[in-house]
Amino acid sequence: MGRLEAGYLFPEIARRRREFAAAHPEAKIISMGVGNTTEPVLPHICGALVEGARRLGNAGTYSGYADEGLAELREGISRVYYRGAFGIDEVFISDGSKCDIGRLQTLFGADAKVTVQDPSYPVYVDGSVVAGAAGRGAAACEDGDCGGGGGYAGIRYMPCTPENNYFPDLSVIEKDSVIYFCSPNNPTGAVATKPQLAALVAAAIRTGSIIVYDAAYSEYIRDAALPRTIYEVDGARNCAIEVNSFSKSAGFTGVRLGWSVVPKELLFSGGESVNSDWARLVATVFNGASNIAQYGGLAALDDEGRAEIRAMTDFYLGNAHLIREALKALNISCIGGDNSPYIWARFPGRGSWDVFAELLEKYHVVTTPGRGFGPAGETFIRFSAFGHRADVEEACKRLSTR
Ligand code: PLP
Repeated sequence: MGRLEAGYLFPEIARRRREFAAAHPEAKIISMGVGNTTEPVLPHICGALVEGARRLGNAGTYSGYADEGLAELREGISRVYYRGAFGIDEVFISDGSKCDIGRLQTLFGADAKVTVQDPSYPVYVDGSVVAGAAGRGAAACEDGDCGGGGGYAGIRYMPCTPENNYFPDLSVIEKDSVIYFCSPNNPTGAVATKPQLAALVAAAIRTGSIIVYDAAYSEYIRDAALPRTIYEVDGARNCAIEVNSFSKSAGFTGVRLGWSVVPKELLFSGGESVNSDWARLVATVFNGASNIAQYGGLAALDDEGRAEIRAMTDFYLGNAHLIREALKALNISCIGGDNSPYIWARFPGRGSWDVFAELLEKYHVVTTPGRGFGPAGETFIRFSAFGHRADVEEACKRLSTR
């Protein structure tokens, strides 16, 4: 814990927002900062959650621990997300993908060699530091073995920048690494193409590495040519774990339900089964996702539920479109927002916390400074499309006066 840099990004943003609000009580602050969902769970899925709660109040339908998750839910996730390619003992139900990432970091332990996209979702790095796998020695790596430009010692950062079209140079991956890869990406909004994922899988196989593929935003992909899961690539079963959840698709950020796929073909370099170790670890430190949430999850997989997920993600993509248009009108170059709920805007020559402060002070709009996601985020701001439509419209109007 002592090796972690400053605070976790989002509490720090909340602190700065509180400070500003205290000094300017008249300001109506709008948040385009965090990735928290804002819209209510839609009726079919919400009805199933209510029904799930009711079942607990009835002796005939009451259920206690369901450690591994409902078999029907595991089978349904395999069918809907992976064309039935996985057995139920390869799909593990969780209380969310972040929680699974933390448990994976426990599994990989302090000796893991960690490689991340830079910028990246903070838990890949911070969780690795907490697990003891990074941050030893120098407090921050200014050049040397982290790939340069700051960040934690012991973590290999793979910059994703406009120059490489937000897909990293994979040649830096060392033997036996754990590679965190997120697509659609938080924070950049970039989505890897199938040939790019094929290159990632090839690099993992070449180096004997394991990919932790974070598909938390897969439901935002609208371009049919873009892969929604890493398992669309041949060979991925031998080198990749995928994590996902209903958080950003069905509005389950506060309900908590996700899953991880750990194929049986995946082995550690010593030949041990990752699937068996993961099953053992999960049974040791986790007592299963809420039964109520799992009933909601089942409804999210049927036709009506799928339609609600589509409607929910369409709504946030509509917000993203408004934000992109507003930034375009200001000649601010940005990517993302078409197949993801995040827009990554570039402010050349500026520090991201400075731009964050300017947007808060002048427009009363909270964003996320790119530096919080890694060294390569220094001159970027992330805009989140999670918000009520009226707030997004108002924020875009304010920004247009810039
Ligand atoms: N992965 C990414 C890339 C995210 O942005 C988030 C949340 O913002 C998560 C995982 C965590 O989601 P949850 O734990 O709610 O499934």
